[in-house]
Amino acid sequence: MRTGTVDPMHLKGRTAIVTGASRGIGRAIALRLAREGANIAFNYLSDEAGARSLEKELKALGVAGQGFKADVRDYGQVQKMREAVSAQFEGFDILVNNAGILKDAALMMMAPEDWKNVIDTNLTGIFNVTRAVITTFMKQKKGNIVNIASVSGLRGMARQTNYAASKGGAIAFTKSLAKEVAGHHIRVNAVVPGYIETEMLGHLKKGYLEDAVGKIPLGYIGKPEDVANAVNFLLSPEAQYITGQIVQVDGGMGI
Ligand code: NDP
Repeated sequence: MRTGTVDPMHLKGRTAIVTGASRGIGRAIALRLAREGANIAFNYLSDEAGARSLEKELKALGVAGQGFKADVRDYGQVQKMREAVSAQFEGFDILVNNAGILKDAALMMMAPEDWKNVIDTNLTGIFNVTRAVITTFMKQKKGNIVNIASVSGLRGMARQTNYAASKGGAIAFTKSLAKEVAGHHIRVNAVVPGYIETEMLGHLKKGYLEDAVGKIPLGYIGKPEDVANAVNFLLSPEAQYITGQIVQVDGGMGI
């Protein structure tokens, strides 16, 4: 193994499951891992066009890529997806839990369904997909999991009690599972993005983002590829002694 840089094509022949990859950060992660040689099984909620175009891009990179329509909130759908992945790919040992949503509101205005939807997607979704694959990872004594959390889950954000609670939960889940499965040679880490240029930011209140940029030490919004690079590092042999860690990709916002 070389040291100092991540070996190119270090994921050759391996298969990664990436949730919520039809667009945004998940898509960038899928493409980044594919460039390292990984075959990609990904899911999405409803964006068929995004899923089909990602499959084409993955094929062009010379790896196997297949999108599955599966709602991470629904354990039955997730199990079916895992079975389909097992049937179509030769084993898998990487999981990136990325699917997530935002439904911001002041608590006094927050609809119970917006609380539930965010917790079910961002936190129960991580449970559902990880639960569906963990037995396989444990049996093969090999596995690598990266959860995508948020600065909101570390520091809290006004109008994001639902989102912050889900992401704080994802961080606690990461640390607990890392301790639980380390003996099976499975690493579990989280990447905590700050503001990243995706459709999700379009849901923020007008003017909010302009204020937020002023509080980012590096002075600009990040790109999905910035998050994908951190995920790639955590999946690489260079990170073999790292587990239960929270890597912030936020331009210094969390300092
Ligand atoms: P986007 O809104 O751009 O994309 C979200 C993705 O998740 C889509 O692929 C969507 O599928 C999928 N998805 C949503 N709900 C479900 C579901 N129930 N089942 C399956 N898939 C689902 O979001 P981002 O790329 O910006 O965010 C990705 C992750 O990064 C999220 O966890 C988010 O919380 C986190 N994050 C993002 C930040 C940002 O600034 N953008 C900052 C901090 C964290 P479909 O296209 O079919 O709807």
